[in-house]
Amino acid sequence: MKLIFEKSVPGRSHQYLPKCDVDGVRLPENLSRTHAPKLPELSETDLSRHYTELNRNVHGVNSGFYPLGSCTMKYNPRINEEMAALPGFTGIHPLAPAHTTRGAQEVLEVSRQLLCEITGMDDMTFQPAAGAHGEFAGVLLIKQYHHARGDFKRTKIIVPDSAHGTNPATAAMCGYTVVNIPSAPNGCVDLEALKQVLGEDTAGLMLTNPNTVGIFDENILEITRLVHEAGGLCYYDGANLNAVMGVVRPGDMGFDCVHLNLHKTFSTPHGGGGPGSGAVGCKAHLAPFLPKSAMMDEGEHIQVRSFAGNFLVVVKAMTYILTLGREGIPEAAKNAVLNANYLQAKLKGTFTPAFDRICMHEFVLDLSSFRKETGVSALDVAKTLIDYGMHPPTMYFPLIVHEALMLEPTETESVETLDWAAEVLRKLYALAYEDPEYMHNAPHNAQIARPDEVRAARNPILRYQA
Ligand SMILES: *Cc1c(COP(=O)(O)O)cnc(C)c1O
Repeated sequence: MKLIFEKSVPGRSHQYLPKCDVDGVRLPENLSRTHAPKLPELSETDLSRHYTELNRNVHGVNSGFYPLGSCTMKYNPRINEEMAALPGFTGIHPLAPAHTTRGAQEVLEVSRQLLCEITGMDDMTFQPAAGAHGEFAGVLLIKQYHHARGDFKRTKIIVPDSAHGTNPATAAMCGYTVVNIPSAPNGCVDLEALKQVLGEDTAGLMLTNPNTVGIFDENILEITRLVHEAGGLCYYDGANLNAVMGVVRPGDMGFDCVHLNLHKTFSTPHGGGGPGSGAVGCKAHLAPFLPKSAMMDEGEHIQVRSFAGNFLVVVKAMTYILTLGREGIPEAAKNAVLNANYLQAKLKGTFTPAFDRICMHEFVLDLSSFRKETGVSALDVAKTLIDYGMHPPTMYFPLIVHEALMLEPTETESVETLDWAAEVLRKLYALAYEDPEYMHNAPHNAQIARPDEVRAARNPILRYQA
């Protein structure tokens, strides 16, 4: 497909309006352009076709199955968008006088109460703009808590190896030494390993639960008890609350602090960079350190972002929670778990699960022996799926599983779609033994086949260079 700049023809445009007969305002010389901007010149028809073609070439939740593990790419009901698009929400300014923004304040307060109830926390902030940002704010709460008590000797944060990669990064960003502990063979935290590293220097533990191999830690109460006993606090990475919302609560599991990715579990379309919301909830003993929006309160406040964060994402989350209701929230979680287990069971006898047990909202396949036998890698499988109209699952993550493919079907997929996905994956499993070469060269029907992903990430070319 050609770039819009390549389709440009000098002088072509879609001017329908008559020439302006009002004198223009002359800007001072030093503020005026010296060269006209280099904009593509196209007719409206060609412009419209260009974007339609782009749209057709992008795979989104609305075009097909998107089982990206750990990211909860579920269908987001349209009503959320409709509510967030109400002019009363989009037209306000964060510095508008408080008495003119009562509705927005009510949204924040109602959402705070709803999400506190769902997480079992006492207070919450919506300032952080994404999950990793929420972790950062949350771990700073833990740091503030220890420091406010005059306890400066706690310099370490424990992170199990099944945690999301942002967890150790966050702990390091907050100035802590990261202590990694291994998983037991069943995918849960190794309790003996945990006991060995706990001590007077433990500031806290960061836990992703269900963890990145899709397993709910069966010793969760024991884990939080042990950390508290050592004087540390417990941080819950709730980016993927999709598996447990309305069923169990981090607060009841003994956690002091949690972040939620409203842009995953609570139904804001994401990908391509946002907008997101990494809401942070905490128990009462951490609440005094919570960043506060200048919009909500008068006076001095710690802030991690301007105003109330990405407010419209909160509007969508509130709409989602209120439309699903008390029955709908746990039902969505249970269906997410059911769908993952259904798909995992349907793949029996093909790709090997990394942990052969009941999973939560996602499961991980281990393709290392399959690769040895066929020469076909997890990457090859992922790339071939593109030709079948399925978005590849997460690959090579979590790092503790080699040749990993991580699938999260989500609750919004029908049994027909899951059956289709299982059939496609089974087909590819067989194909790897018959024609591995075909899979090494896949995808065969995509605009871009195998870009150098590292180079694309490190040296992105974001501007048209003629
Ligand atoms: C996605 C995710 C994060 C990071 O969230 P971002 O919004 O991408 O910063 C953290 N932890 C887990 C478990 C996640 O799935």
